[in-house]
Amino acid sequence: MTELVIEGLRAAVGDKEILHGIELVVRGGEVHAVMGPNGSGKSTLSHVLAGRPGYEVLGGTVTLDGVDLLALAPWERAQAGLFLAMQYPTEVPGVRLDGMLGAALAAREPGAALAAGGQGDVRRRMVVEAERIGFDERFLERPLNVDLSGGEKKRNETLQLGVLQPKVAVLDEIDSGLDIDALRAVARRVEAETHERGLAVLAITHYRRLLAELRPDVVHVLIGGRIVDSGDADLADVLERTGYAGYSEGVGEAAEAAADPRADPLA
Ligand code: ADP
Ligand code: MG
Repeated sequence: MTELVIEGLRAAVGDKEILHGIELVVRGGEVHAVMGPNGSGKSTLSHVLAGRPGYEVLGGTVTLDGVDLLALAPWERAQAGLFLAMQYPTEVPGVRLDGMLGAALAAREPGAALAAGGQGDVRRRMVVEAERIGFDERFLERPLNVDLSGGEKKRNETLQLGVLQPKVAVLDEIDSGLDIDALRAVARRVEAETHERGLAVLAITHYRRLLAELRPDVVHVLIGGRIVDSGDADLADVLERTGYAGYSEGVGEAAEAAADPRADPLA
């Protein structure tokens, strides 16, 4: 079964250490949410996992089914089954979505995509995925992400996830910019992948709304480059009420107190 294991991961951007020792294990079929204030290192974690240039790993390990991801180039990590839905998807003029997905599938399974009907097959998979998440088919002709709205870019990321069928998906604020119906459609699509195919999900989000749809198995709180608390889905509700302020004093204590109906805030 799929298993993403992150141990003692420390990483820097420029000469500033941002991640100070991340510990996480996400198994196939599980949804783990990562919540935390702005600037706490959530996107940095996603970029370090994907192998974005400019991020220096200072220590620790990341393995996917025993494969050392940190030793691989970004495209090799994708081949190994890692997918990143970016917080800010990049516009790539001159590259079409179907061309990009066809190349990605062909690289992962040499010969398979072409043998199975080539671009026509990729195209059919794209149309099916577009329909599942209400992504207008006319966007499939556009250069990658060019002139798409924020929400359309997030749907585009979800479409890519559905076509590529990775083992692990890191979703960096996939809910930002989505309207309520799109949010539900995207969450349903991700959920189907976890239940039907055993996708492992690391969902970075600020909002309970996505989690109400995705129903995470575990919610982690990332502050200052460390996971300072983890709990079940109820932790997201607690955070909605209390914010993150309590964590600066005692790790987890404020959230626990808020979750305890007997706790007297004035005591
Ligand atoms: P989050 O996604 O949790 O809001 P980020 O991971 O994007 O936070 O950023 C974590 C910290 O790293 C922030 O203080 C941010 O300013 C800093 N940071 C991110 N990218 C760079 C960069 N390229 N150069 C310098 N600092 C950066
Ligand atoms: Mg971010």
